[in-house]
Amino acid sequence: MSKTALITGLTGQDGSYLAELLLEKEYKVYGLVRRSSTNNLTRIHHYSDRVELISGDLLDQHSLMDAIEQAQPDELYNLASQSYVPLSWTQPSLTAEYTAIGVSRLLESIRRVKPDTKFYQASSSEVFGQPDESPQTEKTAFRPRNPYGTSKAYAHWLTCNYREHYNLYACCGITYTHESPRRGAEFVFRKITQGAAMIKLGLAKELKLGNLDARRDWCHAKDAVAAMCLMLQQDTPEDYIIGSGKTHSVRELVDTAFQYVGLNYHDYVSVDPEFYRPDEAVQLVGSIEEIKLQLGWEPKYTFADLVQEMVDYDLKELHENRL
Ligand code: GDP
Repeated sequence: MSKTALITGLTGQDGSYLAELLLEKEYKVYGLVRRSSTNNLTRIHHYSDRVELISGDLLDQHSLMDAIEQAQPDELYNLASQSYVPLSWTQPSLTAEYTAIGVSRLLESIRRVKPDTKFYQASSSEVFGQPDESPQTEKTAFRPRNPYGTSKAYAHWLTCNYREHYNLYACCGITYTHESPRRGAEFVFRKITQGAAMIKLGLAKELKLGNLDARRDWCHAKDAVAAMCLMLQQDTPEDYIIGSGKTHSVRELVDTAFQYVGLNYHDYVSVDPEFYRPDEAVQLVGSIEEIKLQLGWEPKYTFADLVQEMVDYDLKELHENRL
C-alpha cells in the first residue's frame, strides 16, 4: 500500500525536492502552505497537480492539528522555518516562533491527533555554532551563535524529548548547507553562481561578497532529501549528521564558478563589509561516518558537480529571460 507524507515547507528548496522524490516512490503527498498574496509555488509548478496543498501555519496550532487530521500521514517532514541566519538577528522573535515554538506545536499536534506518525525534524549545523571539535559528530556539544541556531537547538532537543517521553518515532537530521538551482539568491552559493553567469553574459560587471575565508560543508539538496526519507524508513528513530563530510571556502567556490565560465574571479569580485557577519560560524564540517555505516547513505554529487549544475542553470535562465 502506498504511504502518505505531509511536508511543511513544501514550497521551499528541500520541500520541493523531497516531494518529487516521494512522488517517484508513489507516496500520496500533502504540503502545508501558508497563504500568500504572491505566488510562492514556483519551485513545485511542474508537479503541483500531483500534490495536495493544505493551508496552515506553524504559528497556528489548530491549523496543524487539522492538517494532520486531514492528511493522516505515515510520515511528517518538518522543513519549514525562518531559515536565513542574518534575518534571525533582525527578527529574532519571529525566527523563534517559526523555527523553535513551531516545532512544539507540530509535536503536540502529532501526539494528540496521530501519534504513530513518523516525524523528521530539519535540524541544522548552525546548532554547533562554534564547535569544540571538527568534524562535528552526532555527539558534539551544541554552541549556537545566533538566534537561528538557538531556535534550531531548541527544536532539536524538543524532538528528542518527545521521542523519549512519549515514545514517538521522531528524529532529527542535522543538515549542513545544501544547495541547488532552487536555492534563494540571498545564500552565498547561488549568489556566486548567479553572479558568475550574469558577468559572463554581460549583465553585471562585479560581484560583492563578504568573508571569502568562511568555510562550509556544502552538498546537493537532492542528496540531503534522500537521507531524510531514508531516516524515516528505519525500525527505530535515530538522529544523524547529513552533509558532504568535506569543507570548501567561499574563495574556492567563487574560483570554481568563475573558472567554469572561463573568467578570473580576481577581475570581478570585491569584498564588501556589508556582507560580513558578526559572530559567525566559520568552521563547520560534519562527520558522515555514522549515517554511512547505519543507513548506507552518502552523497552522490560532488562540489564541482553542484557548481556546474547551478552555473549552467543560471546561464540558461538568464539567457531565456533576456529573449
Ligand atoms: P549559511 O550561513 O550556511 O546558512 O549560508 P550562506 O550561504 O548565507 O553563507 C555561507 C557563508 O558564506 C557564511 O559564512 C557567510 O559569511 C559567507 N559569505 C561570504 N560572502 C557572502 C555573501 O555575500 N552573502 C552570503 N549570504 N554569505 C556570504
